[in-house]
Amino acid sequence: MRPDILIEQRIPPPPGQEHPYHTMFPDISRQTVEVVIDTVKTRGLWTLPQDQGFELLRSMYARFSQEYGMPTPRLHQDTYEFYMISAEDIGLPKVSLVSACHEYRHHMRKHGRKRFDDIEVDARAWSISLFHLALPEDFDRAWRRGKIWYMPPYPG
Ligand SMILES: [Zn+2]
Repeated sequence: MRPDILIEQRIPPPPGQEHPYHTMFPDISRQTVEVVIDTVKTRGLWTLPQDQGFELLRSMYARFSQEYGMPTPRLHQDTYEFYMISAEDIGLPKVSLVSACHEYRHHMRKHGRKRFDDIEVDARAWSISLFHLALPEDFDRAWRRGKIWYMPPYPG
């Protein structure tokens, strides 16, 4: 039986598991990209107190779900990061755009959207590409500082 919960393990990527994830979904819709820009830049995701940040991520999920025509997953703060498949429940330890999008991509896969067979590769590629498309300067800074997991070293 398949496990009903996908738990993110924060272990350093083994050699060979690094990919240019930021280029693997160059075709994410403009509408999705705009939702992320609005969430971070207009509504100030990274400046809000935690409770309001989580509330804003819930609203981002609702907007994604309207676009993709699927139910909106629940989101709450927890001690670890996961997607519970049957309950469509997402836990995050803190407000994180890439983690929120990563878990949302697991939800999209449940509802039939997938590009890469490996579910973690698929979720990393979608979330990291979305960050790159929406906020290229912030993405670059985070990559340079080694803040994005599973990316190869910053060039140069
Ligand atoms: Zn995952």
